Amino acid sequence: MIDHNEILSFEEITEVVKKLVPMGISKIRFTGGEPLVRKGIENLVGMVSAIPGIRDIALTTNAIRLEEYAGILAEKGLKRVNISLDTVDPDRYSEITRGGDIGHVFRGIEKARTAGLEPVKINCVRTADTSEKELKDMELFCLKENLEIRYIRQMDLASGSFYGVEGGDGGYCGKCNRIRLTANGNFKPCLFSEYEYNIRELGIVQAYQMALANKPARGQVNSRNEFYNIGG
Ligand code: SF4
Repeated sequence: MIDHNEILSFEEITEVVKKLVPMGISKIRFTGGEPLVRKGIENLVGMVSAIPGIRDIALTTNAIRLEEYAGILAEKGLKRVNISLDTVDPDRYSEITRGGDIGHVFRGIEKARTAGLEPVKINCVRTADTSEKELKDMELFCLKENLEIRYIRQMDLASGSFYGVEGGDGGYCGKCNRIRLTANGNFKPCLFSEYEYNIRELGIVQAYQMALANKPARGQVNSRNEFYNIGG
């Protein structure tokens, strides 16, 4: 668990983005854990979208609070959302989320659309437990709702098992140009790597340049992090 004092402030995150725009960054994605549990996230979106040179802001969420936030996030400059949803079966959803109500997700999708957050994409993690019927139902749901579906095979950081995202561009090392900034200020050139460079220790520009310089040709393993704290 990251100590609260270590977590970057909105001002620090905004400063990072301001420094990176001249270095070629124009697209930002907020991920988590779950970004909609961060108090004032809509203000952070507003601060980042006000930076000249930022042309696209996206967010990945479990959509449980999307119904509440979609409108204000769109007003503040969010352009589109990816929703983590592994089943459209209410009972299975409740099982996976330990009691969650899938109705929140469906209403969140509706609200995102009404707010003009497009496209709405579904990130569906396939595990050994995912049945063919579940996949079929997910496909039919996305077809009916005109949602883009991306299938993500379950990955494991410690053993270094990862796969290309079906229907997306994640997981293909040869064309990967993503650099992640963790909540506690580490630039990570790759999910499946031990490398990380802290902006408070090295300064924003140097930490970023070191992350770029050490971006691996191919992911290996990562024994330092969990997906919930590096935004898979
Ligand atoms: S380089 Fe790393 S982050 Fe990029 S696709 Fe490969 S494993 Fe994933």
